[in-house]
Amino acid sequence: MTTRTEDLHEMKELVTLLNRYADEYYNQDNPSVPDAEYDRLYRRLKELEKAYPDSVLPDSPTHRVGGSGKADLEKFEHKIPMLSLDNVFNDEELSDFVEKVANGLSKAEQEIEFCAEPKLDGLALSLIYKNGVLVTAATRGNGRIGENVTAQAKTIKNIPLSLKGDKIPSYLEVRGEVFMLHRDFEAANEFFRKRDGIKAKLYANPRNAAAGALRQLDPAETAKRKLTFNAYFVTECEGADLPDNHYDRLMYVASLGLPVNKEIKFGRGLAFLRDYFSDMHNRRMSLDYDIDGIVYKVNSTKLWDVLGFVSRAPRFAIAHKFPAQEQITTLNAVDFQV
Ligand code: NAD
Repeated sequence: MTTRTEDLHEMKELVTLLNRYADEYYNQDNPSVPDAEYDRLYRRLKELEKAYPDSVLPDSPTHRVGGSGKADLEKFEHKIPMLSLDNVFNDEELSDFVEKVANGLSKAEQEIEFCAEPKLDGLALSLIYKNGVLVTAATRGNGRIGENVTAQAKTIKNIPLSLKGDKIPSYLEVRGEVFMLHRDFEAANEFFRKRDGIKAKLYANPRNAAAGALRQLDPAETAKRKLTFNAYFVTECEGADLPDNHYDRLMYVASLGLPVNKEIKFGRGLAFLRDYFSDMHNRRMSLDYDIDGIVYKVNSTKLWDVLGFVSRAPRFAIAHKFPAQEQITTLNAVDFQV
């Protein structure tokens, strides 16, 4: 048994450490610990904060999203905040999530329709189209203020610069993930190896490569590293009718030319989520990109308003992370930042 003083001391230490790791990860694209270690410390901090709710520190990472961003990239203020997702790490926590959703909607668990999607391991990007033309691309940053990376995003080949079709909205904001395919990650590191030989600073993993590439100050540098985008939220739409479920919304933006992940499915109840998770878990190694879990979203967007949000995440969605031992990637001794 630890004393209150010891626990509060541990809380303070965890906040300092996690804030340092978050800065390395979000702002410098150069993490010094694996995600699984960050997640473990974060969960410990949440446990302590639950036990001592009056002593939660104002700079605790449990109340914030992401990082402040690169000082030299222009800032962009999001009209609607870009939030994070709450996580579950096992079947029991998943079943608690489904139960909470069912209670919040006064429905039986089997009646709720969910969308299940791969949790793409990259970084979030918001795209704004006016009258079908891409006008802004911005990173999440701290959720409220992101980085304006329009010029950099325009170099990503599968992001359409203009939308197609006869149902083009006057205003559209979609959010999605920018990531690097395995082959493009290998190619990027091969390029640095050839160019810089033994002194080459290589990317640690595709996630850091994607973040590092998108947040280059010079868009010509972004263009040298091949990135991919997949849309996963339609945030705002004016001048065209949006369907009232998430899956159909994604199909609508796909019809406009925006890339949407092919593995997204919908179905009802916990049984569907379990089947999807185990199928994707088995197949994850055969995908040509990294995923670090599955995201489940209540499919009816009308129900999103009923369920609402907690401080840094929606209540209608959750990320189910893959087991920790599989997430430990090779962060070796070399400084990988490019
Ligand atoms: P998160 O990565 O756990 O989940 C939210 C993010 O998931 C969204 O912002 C979005 O970018 C992404 N996402 C991918 N596919 C999605 C989909 N289909 N639908 C919706 N969103 C999707 O949350 P976070 O706040 O970005 O980061 C926290 C995580 O980052 C931690 O759990 C940890 O693993 C990692 N991290 C690591 C370090 C480190 O030092 N290694 C430091 C900070 C954070």
